[in-house]
Amino acid sequence: MNQQAKNPKTAQWQALSQAHHLAPFSDYKQLAENGPRIITEARGVHLWDSEGYKILDGMAGLWCVAVGYGREELVEAAARQMRQLPFYNTFFQTAHPPVLELAQAIAQLAPAGMNHVFFTGSGSEGNDTMLRLVRHYWACKGQPNKKVIIGRENGYHGSTVAGASLGGMKFMHEQGDLPIPGIAHIPQPYWFGEAGEQSPEAFGIWAADQLEKKILELGEENVAAFIAEPIQGAGGVIVPPDSYWPRIKEILAKYDILFVADEVICGFGRTGEWFGSQYYGLQPDLMTIAKGLTSGYVPMGGLIVSDKVFEVIEAHGDFNH
Ligand SMILES: *Cc1c(COP(=O)(O)O)cnc(C)c1O
Repeated sequence: MNQQAKNPKTAQWQALSQAHHLAPFSDYKQLAENGPRIITEARGVHLWDSEGYKILDGMAGLWCVAVGYGREELVEAAARQMRQLPFYNTFFQTAHPPVLELAQAIAQLAPAGMNHVFFTGSGSEGNDTMLRLVRHYWACKGQPNKKVIIGRENGYHGSTVAGASLGGMKFMHEQGDLPIPGIAHIPQPYWFGEAGEQSPEAFGIWAADQLEKKILELGEENVAAFIAEPIQGAGGVIVPPDSYWPRIKEILAKYDILFVADEVICGFGRTGEWFGSQYYGLQPDLMTIAKGLTSGYVPMGGLIVSDKVFEVIEAHGDFNH
C-alpha cells in the first residue's frame, strides 16, 4: 500500500483494490505492494487523482478518449436515450433508430464500398466477429478450407480468445494455450527495433514480402484473410516504413484473400483522416472499430463490412452470431 498518501480515502480505495478488484494487464504482486493510482475526475485532456495531482492524459484513457473528457453533449444524449429506450436487441427482425442512424453515420465516414456495420461491445469482440464472418464468407463461396487468418508478431487485436490469438504477443499466448488453431503470424514492420543494417525502404519490402511467403507456405486455398493495424498501436506505436503498405497492396491484389484493417486505434481521426486506411490509401474488406467510436464514454465496438463481403453473406441468409 502507498504509505505516502495524503488523502485518507486513497488508502481506503487501495485497500478495496487489494480486497476485491482483479485488474486487467497488471502484475498482482506489484499492485499489492504499491496500490493503484486512483483517478477521480477528468476534464478535457486532464485527469485528477485522489491525491489532487493534475495529470496530462497523454494516452487518452486507453487510446480511446479521442474527444476528451467532460463532453456535456454526450452525457445528455446518453441520459436522454437511456430514459427513452435503454436497451433493445436487433435480433430476429427488429431494430431501433440509434443503431440504424449510427450505422449510416459510420458508413458515410468509411472508405468507399464499406456500407455495413455489425456492432459489438468491444474491439476484441469485433475481431471475434471478424473471424467468424470471414470464415463464413469463404464457406458461403464454396471454399470452406480458406480458414487461416494471418496476423503479425507483437500485433494486438484484443483479449478475447480470438482477439488474443490474432494478436502476436507471446506473453499473452503463454497464458490460456493460445493461439487457437487456424491462425498464423508474420514479422512486424518494426524498422527501428528489428531491421539491423537494412534501410527503412529495404526492410519495409522485406517485412511485406513475409506475407507472400506465408501465403505460399500455407497455400492460398487455405488462407482466409490478413489482419493488421495501419499503424501498430499497442506494441510500440510502430509506423511502418513508406515502402511497406504499397508492397502489401501488391501482394493482396495478387492473391484471393481478404484484408482486415484493425482500426480500433487508428480510426476516428487519429491519423488526421477518419481511418488509418484512408491515410495509407488502403482498401480493406473489413475494418474493426472501437475506442474512438464512443471516445470511451460507453464500451462499444464493431465491424465495418464491405459490399463485396456483405453481398455473399446476405445471399446465404443466416449469420448465427
Ligand atoms: C484495444 C484494441 C483492441 C481491442 O479493443 P477492446 O475494445 O479493448 O476490446 C483491438 N485492436 C486494437 C488495435 C486495439 O488497440
